[in-house]
Amino acid sequence: MTLEHIRPESLHDLLKAMDTADYTLFAGGTDLMIRKRQWQGASRRFEEPIAFINQLKELRGIEDLGDHYRIGALTTQEEMATSGILPDYLRDPYHQMATLAIRNIATVGGNIINAASVGDSLPLLMALDAEVVLESLAGERTLPVTELIIDKYRTRRKSNEILTRVMIPKEDFTGYYYKKLGQRKASILSKLSIILLYRKKETLEDLRIAVGAVNDKPVRLPAAEKTLLATGDLAGYLKSLSEAFESADDKRSTKEYRETVSLALIKQELEKLFS
Ligand SMILES: Cc1cc2nc3c(=O)[nH]c(=O)nc-3n(C[C@H](O)[C@H](O)[C@H](O)COP(=O)(O)OP(=O)(O)OC[C@H]3O[C@@H](n4cnc5c(N)ncnc54)[C@H](O)[C@@H]3O)c2cc1C
Repeated sequence: MTLEHIRPESLHDLLKAMDTADYTLFAGGTDLMIRKRQWQGASRRFEEPIAFINQLKELRGIEDLGDHYRIGALTTQEEMATSGILPDYLRDPYHQMATLAIRNIATVGGNIINAASVGDSLPLLMALDAEVVLESLAGERTLPVTELIIDKYRTRRKSNEILTRVMIPKEDFTGYYYKKLGQRKASILSKLSIILLYRKKETLEDLRIAVGAVNDKPVRLPAAEKTLLATGDLAGYLKSLSEAFESADDKRSTKEYRETVSLALIKQELEKLFS
């Protein structure tokens, strides 16, 4: 079977094509090839023509802009994991994704737009107040990752838009905690993942907590974080988090496991921070 496809040489050529027809954008293809899998054979079923985008060099690279990191959408997970520019709290979650072979082709933009409930970059980017830039022939718009993601596999990206870059505010966190739990150590989808970022000098000045793979969309509660910082009321924060959880049993794990373990791990880290 021949697939209808294009391989534009520039972002502008791609945007022109996307203005007249719907394309499935193919970056690393590591999610697409699984989602389009046909169990009885190797042929892949795509409903729309494909636009291969991995050759668009203008969408690659990591830059330090002083107050932000600018990450091109086609930057690979491995480039994130091994970057000499990025801090550990940004590198570590990318390093724990998939395997080296997958990380070498899987892209930052693909993980975001795929918007899987188990997408490991999403809690991190939400905790960091990261924004994405979406571009179409008509121009650019910027959206916080939190707003971009509607829920499992659904985003506010329009069909004529491409995610070109991710803008991550630079913060002087003094520490972080990242935990990804799965069935095995490598190449496994998360049962749950937790990112906790903080700045603690004489007092605790900043604290962000996000939990992935529990709800359809990662859970972050900025108002409850502020109250926790102001009052030190751990039990109050954990109660809010517990009320926000709406997990369900599935083949990766049970609702009870995910929610109980998330709360226990966060409680343990918070007790250390507030001691
Ligand atoms: C063996 C294996 C292990 C994995 N392990 C993990 C893991 O541990 N953690 C994890 O989170 N994920 C994991 N994944 C999933 C996958 O590797 C990641 O989500 C990856 O980041 C997807 O990137 P990609 O470039 O391959 O996306 P693609 O498959 O190319 O695209 C994914 C979706 O995003 C869209 N898209 C891609 N780029 C853009 C763009 N720039 N603008 C607009 N739309 C775009 C595509 O049209 C498609 O809908 C794993 C996958 C495999 C096969």
